[in-house]
Amino acid sequence: MGKILRVDLDTRRVSTEELSDTVVEKYIGGNGLGTKILYEETTNMTEPLGPDNLLIIAVGPVTGTRAFNSDRFDAVTMSPLTGIYAESNAGGYWGGVFKKCGYDALVICGKSAEPVYLSITDKRVEIKNAKSLWGKETFEATEILREMEGKTCRAAVIGPAGEALVRFASVITDGMHGRTLGRCGFGAVMGSKNLKAVVVNGNRPTEIADEEKMASTLKKLGPLMRDQPTALRIGGTSGGVEGSESIGNLPIKNWNQGSWPEGAKKITGMTMVEEALVKRYHCGQCVINCGRVVRAEGGPYEGQEMAGPEYETMGLLGSNCMIDHLRTVLKANELCNRYGLDTISTGSVIGFAMEAFERGLISSQDLDGIELTWGNGPALLKVIDRIARREGFCRVLGEGVRKAAEQIGGNACEFAVEVKGLEPPAHDGRARFTVALGLATANRGACHLGAFTHDFEEGLVIEDLGTPGLPKRFTTEGKAENVFMMQNLMCMFDSLSCCKFGLYGGLTVNPLIDFLNAATGWDLDHTAFFETGERIFNLKRLFNVRVGVSRKDDTLPLRMLTHRRGGGTNELPPLNIMLSEYYQCRGWNEFGIPTRERIRKLGLDNYIPY
Ligand code: SF4
Repeated sequence: MGKILRVDLDTRRVSTEELSDTVVEKYIGGNGLGTKILYEETTNMTEPLGPDNLLIIAVGPVTGTRAFNSDRFDAVTMSPLTGIYAESNAGGYWGGVFKKCGYDALVICGKSAEPVYLSITDKRVEIKNAKSLWGKETFEATEILREMEGKTCRAAVIGPAGEALVRFASVITDGMHGRTLGRCGFGAVMGSKNLKAVVVNGNRPTEIADEEKMASTLKKLGPLMRDQPTALRIGGTSGGVEGSESIGNLPIKNWNQGSWPEGAKKITGMTMVEEALVKRYHCGQCVINCGRVVRAEGGPYEGQEMAGPEYETMGLLGSNCMIDHLRTVLKANELCNRYGLDTISTGSVIGFAMEAFERGLISSQDLDGIELTWGNGPALLKVIDRIARREGFCRVLGEGVRKAAEQIGGNACEFAVEVKGLEPPAHDGRARFTVALGLATANRGACHLGAFTHDFEEGLVIEDLGTPGLPKRFTTEGKAENVFMMQNLMCMFDSLSCCKFGLYGGLTVNPLIDFLNAATGWDLDHTAFFETGERIFNLKRLFNVRVGVSRKDDTLPLRMLTHRRGGGTNELPPLNIMLSEYYQCRGWNEFGIPTRERIRKLGLDNYIPY
C-alpha cells in the first residue's frame, strides 16, 4: 500500500520497505504506525538520547489528498524529557510534501559522526553535510536550506536548543511562519543524532481509491468547514485566553492564582488581532486559517514580523509567568521558535523558576544577576536565551520542571507542575474534570490533545461520537466513558494525521471515516474505527508499561489535586474515582495495566510485556 523509508545514520545506509496492507488496516499510519515500529524496534533499555533510539515520522492514508485538514505529520520517539513514549504532530506543509515524495513513514536510527541533514525527494534520498548549518538558528538554517535545496522544498529543522540537547527542544518546519513538533523533546533526539534537518521536496500525486466518495464528502463538509469555526479564524487559538481565564482554565502564576482578568485581556488573541495582526495563514488542505503573522509596533521590537503565539504559548509564557505585556510574549514566542524550544515547557519551567526565586530557593546569583521576578519581561527573555544555550544554572531549567525541582531541592517538588515528567498545556484539571482525567492518563504525559475534551464538556457536542454530551463540568458522571471514547478518536485523528480543530467545522467521526474509506477503498464502520483507535491507544500504553508506567503515574500535580485557587473554579478533581471508572472502560486492572483478555481482543497479543 505504501512505503517506509529507513535511514541509518551510523552506516549511512538508506533503504525502503513495503508497508503491508495488514499493518495499515491495524495501525492506519501516522502515530499508530509509528508506535508499532517504536515498540518493536526499541526496548526498555533504550536511551532516549542514545543512537538506538528511533526518530519516526509518519503520515496517514489521507495525507496528500484533498481531504480537509489532512496535511499534518506525526512523530514518535522515546522522550528525553520523560523517558516514556513520546508523540508530537505538526501542521504546515511538510507532511503533504513528504507524502508526495512517495513515502508514508521515515525511520531514523543511529548517530552520524558529523552534522548532517537528510534530503528526500521523489527521486532520491541523500545524507548531506550540515557542518555549515550547525549552530544556526532555525529561521536562518531554513532559509539556507531553501537556497540549497530549492524554493519548493519544506524543511523540518532544529536550532541551538536541539543541538545542545535541551530536553524540551522542538523541531520547526518552514521557518518563521511554520508549524512545530513542540512537545517531548524531538529536537533533542535529532540533536543527539547530529541531524540538523529533514528536507523534503516531492510532487508525486497521491492515489485515491474512491474519487467519487472523496468528492462527495468534500462537497458535504465544505460549507460547514468554511463557515463554522469563525472564532478560531478570527482570533486564532489565542482568541480563547479571556474565556479560559473566566472559567479557571488558564495557568496563572505557576498554576497558583485563580483569576487575572486584566492581564488576560492584554494578552488575548483578540488584542493581538487589534494591535499587531499582519495576516492569517493556514496549513495544507485547511480552510480554517488559524495561523497568525503579527508585527510588533512600538517598544523595543518595533517592526519585527513574527508568527503569532498560540493559546498555549500565551498561557505559559504569558499568564503563567504573569507577563501582561503582549509584545514581550510575542518576542518570547519568536525566540523559542528561533532557538527551537517548546513554548509550553519553556513557559512552565520559567514560571516554576519564578516561584522558586520568590521562595528563595534560587537567587539572582544563581542566575548571573537576573532578578527572575513575576512579570519581569526582560528577565524572561534572558532566561529563554540561556536555557537554549544551556548556560549556567539555566542548564538545570533545560532539564524540565521535574528534574529541575529534584535538583533545586527543598520543597520545590510541591510546586513542580508536571505529569509523567511533561509540563501541562494551558488547560487546568480543576476547571474541567474530563481535562483532569485526560491529563492524568495521556500516554505522553500531561497533554490535552490526547483526549481533546476541553471544548466538549459543558459546551460543544460531537453527535456521532456515540456517547451522551456532558452538560456539567463538576460531576464525575459520564466523564470516564467520554475520555475513553475521545482518546480513541484522537488516536485515529493522529493516525490519519488530520487536524483536530476540524472538529469545530464538522470533521467529526463520520466524515473522518468517509475520508479514510475514500482514500483506501475500505468499508470501515463506526465500530471498527473505534476499535482501531483503542488498539493504538493500548499499544502506546503497553510501551509505557514496559518502561514501568502504572496507576502511580496516572496522576496530577499536587497543586491541581489539592489547591483551591478560586476565580473561575474552586473545585478539585476527584481523580481516583474517575480513574477507577476509566480503567474499567478500558478493560485494565486496578493498577492501570491492560488485561490479557482485552489485549487479545484488540489483536495485540505480540506486544504483552508481562
Ligand atoms: S485549523 Fe489551524 S492548525 Fe489546523 S490545519 Fe488549519 S491552520 Fe493548521
